[in-house]
Amino acid sequence: MNKTYKICILPGDGIGTDIIEEGKKVLQRVAEKSGIKLDLEEGLIGGIAYDKEGTPFPQDTWEKVKDADAVLLGAVGGPKWDCLPRDKKPEKALLELRKGLNVYLNLRPVKIFPFLAGMSPIKNIANGEITPDLVIARELSSGIYYGEPKDQTGSGDNREAVDTMRYTYEEIERITRKAFELAKNRSGKVTSVDKANVLASSGLWRDVVNEISNDYPDVELDHILVDNCAMQVVLNPQDFDVMLCPNMFGDIISDLASVLPGSIGLMPSASLGEGRKGLYEPVHGSAPDIAGQGKANPLATILSVAMLLEMTLGLGDEARTVEKAVYDVLNEGYRTHDLYYDEKKETLVSTQEMGDLITDRIV
Ligand code: NAD
Repeated sequence: MNKTYKICILPGDGIGTDIIEEGKKVLQRVAEKSGIKLDLEEGLIGGIAYDKEGTPFPQDTWEKVKDADAVLLGAVGGPKWDCLPRDKKPEKALLELRKGLNVYLNLRPVKIFPFLAGMSPIKNIANGEITPDLVIARELSSGIYYGEPKDQTGSGDNREAVDTMRYTYEEIERITRKAFELAKNRSGKVTSVDKANVLASSGLWRDVVNEISNDYPDVELDHILVDNCAMQVVLNPQDFDVMLCPNMFGDIISDLASVLPGSIGLMPSASLGEGRKGLYEPVHGSAPDIAGQGKANPLATILSVAMLLEMTLGLGDEARTVEKAVYDVLNEGYRTHDLYYDEKKETLVSTQEMGDLITDRIV
């Protein structure tokens, strides 16, 4: 008998609800067409959960997450909740979710669609000279976001606050191995990003990455300081393949890298630990400026669904079908608000229309 896969759907806040609807539609169509059985369970997370339950990450949501084979998340946060104490903020729920699942490897692929290259602010991508194809392997469950913060003390111009960045050997080793394994199936190159000239935790990061690299003689390893990396990722993005990053550096570098394809609305992600269970979400946030207006690009979420199909459910063919649908629809000139710039060649569509176009091509 066919297994039923349990998928926990967490729309969250802002455009989270807009884009998750489209991701769900695609997932359900794939299930219909390929005969796989899905059990989709929705849960509350983020600001909306705080409003309804008094906590951004209710126990009931955690139970659903624990029970699921995979989690599909929209985004959390927004100005309405910015003034809450740190442990009630929507973003705190994300940290708890990732830690709870122990998903320490966050994969953020950056691919250029040739017919969207003109959208890129990077001159040599826009003119077709280079077509970078890289993946950010961001450490997701440790580092400064999980340090020991001390909230503001003192008053007036004597106020101070503290964050701490801590990494252990084991935390660095496990993500390094994943990055090298990934590189073996790509172009065979890892670039490790750190700030080893200043930070103690980066010194350990570099030492451990060097040690582990000895087990992968066929993979080339480079180290780069994060500040130079920020420059090189826009100047010479074609030089990167797998970018191995500590948590905060990966967070920042991936937003920077999101300008390469032309919109953050095209950037999916998958977060994994040991085993197949995964958390899938677009790289972008809740974009309160465009929420509920039909302007959000759902493709990052739909491409995250493709990653879910492949990495958790082992359905590579179905994942390729979704990716091809995205490619074809964009190639035919359909554009959401963030990608629309030429009314003669392109058709402007809403979030929902884009979701329908992709779904209709999954036959
Ligand atoms: P953001 O990613 O939400 O938005 C940045 C810019 O990109 C905005 O102009 C927005 O309109 C645009 N944008 C983002 N996604 C888009 C899409 N799918 N289609 C079209 N345009 C899109 O970042 P922000 O404005 O810094 O943060 C807004 C809120 O989201 C904050 O509360 C922040 O904490 C939260 N956030 C959540 C996550 C998450 O849930 N994983 C990640 C980042 C930020």
